Amino acid sequence: MPASKVYFTSARCTVWDSSCSLPFKYDQLLLLAGLKKYISPKEKVAVKIHFGSQGCFRTVRPVFVRKTVDAIKAAGGRPFVTDTTRIDSLEYLEVAAYNGYTHLTCGAPVIIADGLFGKDAVTVKVPGAKHIQEIDVASAIYHADAMVVLSHFKGHIQAGFGGAIKNMGMGGVSPFTHCGHNNRGRLHSVSATPPEWQKGKCTFCGRCEKVCPTKSISIKGKESLKVNKDLCWICGRCARICPAEALAMPITSERLAIHIAEASKAVISTFKPKKIIYVNFIMEVQPECDCMPVADTPVVQDQGILISDDLVAVDRASLDMVNRAKPLPQSRAEDYGLKEAGEVLSKVNKRDTNITIEQSEKYGLGSSKYELIEYKSEGKAGKAEEHI
Ligand code: SF4
Ligand code: SF4
Repeated sequence: MPASKVYFTSARCTVWDSSCSLPFKYDQLLLLAGLKKYISPKEKVAVKIHFGSQGCFRTVRPVFVRKTVDAIKAAGGRPFVTDTTRIDSLEYLEVAAYNGYTHLTCGAPVIIADGLFGKDAVTVKVPGAKHIQEIDVASAIYHADAMVVLSHFKGHIQAGFGGAIKNMGMGGVSPFTHCGHNNRGRLHSVSATPPEWQKGKCTFCGRCEKVCPTKSISIKGKESLKVNKDLCWICGRCARICPAEALAMPITSERLAIHIAEASKAVISTFKPKKIIYVNFIMEVQPECDCMPVADTPVVQDQGILISDDLVAVDRASLDMVNRAKPLPQSRAEDYGLKEAGEVLSKVNKRDTNITIEQSEKYGLGSSKYELIEYKSEGKAGKAEEHI
């Protein structure tokens, strides 16, 4: 596959001029990446973000969502800001508002892509898939004409990192099928059943009960722990945070990467070619996913923003940038004794971060070869139009 273009602007700002500040450089980067080419007048354009969670506040900053919405409107499109259900939808909209995403701040409606009950979705077949032969894509994404995918690039306890690929594969599908069966849960596990509990290992610390978004776990004293299988949507959070490994979610990193690639393929297939553009924000790179109930300090310094119409290339370029960055003190990187640049997200999450990219490339989602095109602003004189 030929190299894909990835447009980049650095988070650094060394000139005392607002045009050198990241939000204004982002305006120029959208121009340079040719956002207009992807949107036709009057098209409904999904701005796919992750709303975060209660306690996890290091998501894409609302100013960048607003800038994206303004750019889509300037191109003639009709944007809406969206994410799929992760907890009860009404609660999730509250979380979105707490994290700064409202119609007023974003300049466009903020909606749940798969409806109030997480069941508004369309079944999509995945040709050539090994494991996920079909999956339910959130209806607002399925029916959108174009999409701008804004991804906070950070770590992930199961996949090693989360960026554009994961935002599509996990974030573009609903948790349930129409008849209430688990849809997204199949991506997290090979068994499609709730995590298994091993009493002998459990210390009854109660962390799993607190982290469960569906209140499926009930612990009685130091005697028993029950997972309500009718409520559990197999998100795997409880197993991931259990310090004693007493809850098992059977899946390997490779299998998870295949599931995510297959689901991403399904979501992409609902758009005509050249209708999706991916924006990665390498900022506040916390060690874990935005769906966790915490946000630790960043493990590397802010790098900047990358844009491409190739989700594999934009994630590869982002990962390379993070891998070249020096680990930060007073972060989980320091807890692990990391002082030199290299694979920081792999090391803090004990996962091979390359697997998701490799599997996605195998599935033909994009190319890991990229050409990095940097936009630099040197004050008022440096306009992106001059670089095109
Ligand atoms: S988090 Fe693990 S150790 Fe703690 S109560 Fe749950 S299963 Fe037991
Ligand atoms: S997998 Fe665990 S955290 Fe997720 S819904 Fe089921 S019991 Fe709750």
